[in-house]
Parts: sequence; structure tokens; C-alpha cells
Amino acid sequence: MMYPTHYACSSCQEKFQFQFRDAMYYVGPVPAVRQVGFDDLLSVNLRPGWCKDCACLCVVEDILPVRAFEDAYGAARSGRQVDYPALTFYSDTSEAVKEVRDYLRWRMARIHPARALCCGRSRYQLMDLAQPILKHDGCEYGFIEPWYQVSGYNGPGPGVGRPANIRLFDAKGILIGQLTWRKDDERMWDIEPLQYPPLIVDD
Ligand SMILES: [Zn+2]
Ligand SMILES: [Zn+2]
Repeated sequence: MMYPTHYACSSCQEKFQFQFRDAMYYVGPVPAVRQVGFDDLLSVNLRPGWCKDCACLCVVEDILPVRAFEDAYGAARSGRQVDYPALTFYSDTSEAVKEVRDYLRWRMARIHPARALCCGRSRYQLMDLAQPILKHDGCEYGFIEPWYQVSGYNGPGPGVGRPANIRLFDAKGILIGQLTWRKDDERMWDIEPLQYPPLIVDD
């Protein structure tokens, strides 16, 4: 699926941006401090959403039932291509099996339903449905529509030359940090600690 770069209101043209669009789970055996290894990370599957608590465009975890992970594991083991939880087209079979097994293990332990990754709560509306009915404050007639921009950027990936903006979550979907610099030689990312903003009670 093509992921929208942003959304805009069809009436007042107000633009809604994602604060970040890349997220990883840390699934390593010890607490993540300063650095995490490539092999202890899993990409978070995401869908675009609107958080009703933060009133912002955000990414929401896309967590299919355990069955989907078991099926993917079976497919990977028999050498077939998988596209969820991870696209395995480019991996060789043993890499693909390892990756899907890591996802399956993560999924078996994951109880909390999908979270909006702006705040970790689950009061969101998905934005990739056929007709999202979201209306925003002070605008009576507008609909919020996705926009897709193709970037011509072709340089090194994030984390080389400039720090990345990739959020890091524990297996339960709690924000624990941000990946900053990618060290390919060591197969490690530098990380900085980060936490969800405190819950603001607005009564
Ligand atoms: Zn509007
Ligand atoms: Zn939120």
C-alpha cells in the first residue's frame, strides 16, 4: 500500500502532517540503553489514523490476529513470499523464517490492542478506509483527504549524515526512545530515551 505523505482538508486546505511515520519494536533480551542491535528490532506495521485524544494525525499499530502470523510462518518455512508481518521478497529463506518467527513470538506475547503511537492510547479512527468521515474543528464542509508525494531523495537512509526520526517502542507498544544514528559496521543504532507525553486531563 502507498502510504500518504500527509492529509489535507478539501475545503479550507489545512494540512495535517505526521509527526513521524517510522517505528520499531525493541524485542531484545535486556533493557535498551544507548544502543540497540539491528537483530533486536522489528518494524512496526502501521496504518494512518486520527487520534481523538491528541487531535492529531498519527500512525496506529496494525496488528492482525495470531493466525495471520502462524500462516506467514508456515509460508516462509516453505519458501513462499510473505507480505505481512514483513515483506520477505528479498530475504533468503532462512532470513525470512527467522524474521517471521520473531514476529510470531512477539505477537503471541502481545495482549494490548493496537495503540495510536502519538500517546499510546486506543481512541483513534483509521484514515485508510474508503471514506473517512472525519471532520475537523471549525470547518463544516471539509473532508480530510490523503495526499501522496513521491520523494526524489536517493541518498543514504535515515541515520547516516543526519539523525533519523524513527520511534522505538517496547513489545507492548510503549514509547521508549528514538533511533538516531545508524552504525552499519556494528549493526547497531544509537538511541535516545523518549516517553509518551503525560496524559493531560482536560476538564
Ligand atoms: Zn477544513
Ligand atoms: Zn494520541
